[in-house]
Amino acid sequence: MSATNPHAGLPITDDDAAIAAALEDVSIPTLLLSLVHMTGDPSYIRGPIRPRMLVLNEVQGFLPEEEKAEARRMALEAIKAYRDGGCVLPPPPGPELIREMMSWVACEDVPEEYVPMLLEEMELDGVDARRVEVHADADAREAFPVVVIGCGQSGLLAGIRLKEAGIPFTIVEKNPGVGGTWWENSYPGCRVDVGNHFYCYSFEPSDHWTEFFSQQPELQRYFQDVMKRHAIESHIRFDTEVEGAVWDEPSATWRVTVRTPEGATEVLTARAVISAVGLLNRPRLPEIPGIEDFEGPAFHSAQWDHSVDYRGKRVAMIGAGASGFQIAPTIAPDVAHLTVFQRTAQWMFPNPNYHEKVGPGVRWAMRHLPFYGRWYRFLIFWPGSDGALMSARIDPEWPHQDRSVSERNDFTRQIFTDWITSQVGDDAALLAKVLPDYPATGKRTLQDNGSWLRALKRDNVDLVREGIARIEKDAVVTVSGERHEADVIVYATGFQANRYLYPMHIVGRDGAVLADQWGDEPNAYLGIAVPNFPNFYCMYGPGTNLAHGGSLIFHSECQMRYIAGCIDELVRNGHRTLEPRAEVTEAYHARHQTEIKKLVWSHETIKHSWFKNQSGDIHTVSPWRLVDYWEWTKRPNLDDFTVR
Ligand code: NAP
Repeated sequence: MSATNPHAGLPITDDDAAIAAALEDVSIPTLLLSLVHMTGDPSYIRGPIRPRMLVLNEVQGFLPEEEKAEARRMALEAIKAYRDGGCVLPPPPGPELIREMMSWVACEDVPEEYVPMLLEEMELDGVDARRVEVHADADAREAFPVVVIGCGQSGLLAGIRLKEAGIPFTIVEKNPGVGGTWWENSYPGCRVDVGNHFYCYSFEPSDHWTEFFSQQPELQRYFQDVMKRHAIESHIRFDTEVEGAVWDEPSATWRVTVRTPEGATEVLTARAVISAVGLLNRPRLPEIPGIEDFEGPAFHSAQWDHSVDYRGKRVAMIGAGASGFQIAPTIAPDVAHLTVFQRTAQWMFPNPNYHEKVGPGVRWAMRHLPFYGRWYRFLIFWPGSDGALMSARIDPEWPHQDRSVSERNDFTRQIFTDWITSQVGDDAALLAKVLPDYPATGKRTLQDNGSWLRALKRDNVDLVREGIARIEKDAVVTVSGERHEADVIVYATGFQANRYLYPMHIVGRDGAVLADQWGDEPNAYLGIAVPNFPNFYCMYGPGTNLAHGGSLIFHSECQMRYIAGCIDELVRNGHRTLEPRAEVTEAYHARHQTEIKKLVWSHETIKHSWFKNQSGDIHTVSPWRLVDYWEWTKRPNLDDFTVR
């Protein structure tokens, strides 16, 4: 094992008692996998201790206590021997054994086609396989400046990759700091819904998280730290907003118009543009009559006004999606009264660890036990991977389409229903309001540890499931005429998700305007490249939102590898432009539409969902297996492009 492998773990110098104490905290299946690396002995996974089932966010494999105790006892002996022997690792497990380890912990056969993707994501060999070299001399690379729009997780990643490839670049960011969504969404209770030991770059260590699902300040700090570690800051123009970009054919460059912090207009010239503006970035306020008549403070969840002290006030919160779901439990104890206006009830995954802190033992294990953090990543990735896509498939033969889309989906509905009923079954009126009336997982499913329904059961909280007729100077009035007085209104009403890249004005070849070309049906080849827009790339572009699994960071890493591959082709071969062929893009979009219509998110019972456009079609969500998208985005196929 290479001593330079960053995942091999720091040397262990702790005494026996400290090690034993740490082991009380850890995921036992992950520990046993680490022991295989540490000792070279596969018997740790071939003995009687076997995880029973791998379920998302359950990291003990449902092992009984006595088996966990036995595993800790064996581990303590092995770790002591490893420590006393100077922490020398044996040769790494071979490919067959690695696959056996994957299948052992997954409690199912991990198909061969997944192994390369998983190995890359886990980086067991210590090699960051998603970076792309640009094979050209320094002059050629210097002559290819790139502008990246936005410095959230995808824009920062773009910067890191371009820097590694020696391509000059500028990241333009409208906010004063890095993080994108994790900069802007500072509402009380904001935290990530994907386990953080997976929701982080594959090439960055994950031993530092203090919570399993971190809150916004810690996430923002993470991106800031990564920015500094990779020395990206000097390439970023903060407080600067891109207003538009126009393609200049004679010079084969983009002219990117930015508004500087001083309010001046400036034009940047680039050979390629990467839009990394995110999807859920432009707040959407509801069209409710009288919205401007309200006299108290009122703001959107993504523009939380921290100068407003909500404590002791009557707060009306309109919207009960992912943001509202986190806000209500956080502010409820401090407000005089909270009225939650919920148009549609939400399905939620039971996740008891949602607010849990990462114990010191786990952090020690992440730091010291060889590859523990990598296998822990697998433990979150695999059960939230393509298996969930199968569950999302509509079975046209299934007779109960009014409540579910398949037998499997009906089973999920039952589990979710039981979870809700177990909490509020004693309150029939509340139960009726919080039970969704559409198939499980049909909208963005939320993570839940019971805090939402606990909040709704409080004496100072009301849940209103009636439509809103109007807003008055001091109240929200429902269609039945009931007035709900409020001092503060919070609009947790989501984002303009179907208006990709809004409000930027992007003009491509022959005067093509991107917003017009897309209309209500935004689409791009692989969600990345758009005909008529040469050398222009989207990250988290049309049709790439992940509703079934994975993480957006995983997707960004796939997309940026593909984009860097395009840039490599351009620079290495001295091409002027790469542009996806229209017929290839149309065929891709048609396949996308055919597939997405077969999945639960398209189900006709779902009336309101940001996944859908005005016509009820979906151009936001990916219908693809992660393994397919990963394969397709490994490297651009030049046959898909017109090369000039
Ligand atoms: P959202 O999921 O779109 O929820 C908006 C809420 O506002 C919904 O309850 C919606 O009702 C309601 N609403 C919209 N217009 C309304 C109107 N005119 N009258 C009454 N109610 C109205 O927005 P979000 O909560 O900001 O979340 C958006 C996405 O951001 C999430 O799906 C997720 O992808 C991401 N997010 C993630 C996290 C996380 O990782 N923890 C946290 C927050 C957000 P309907 O349901 O009826 O449309």
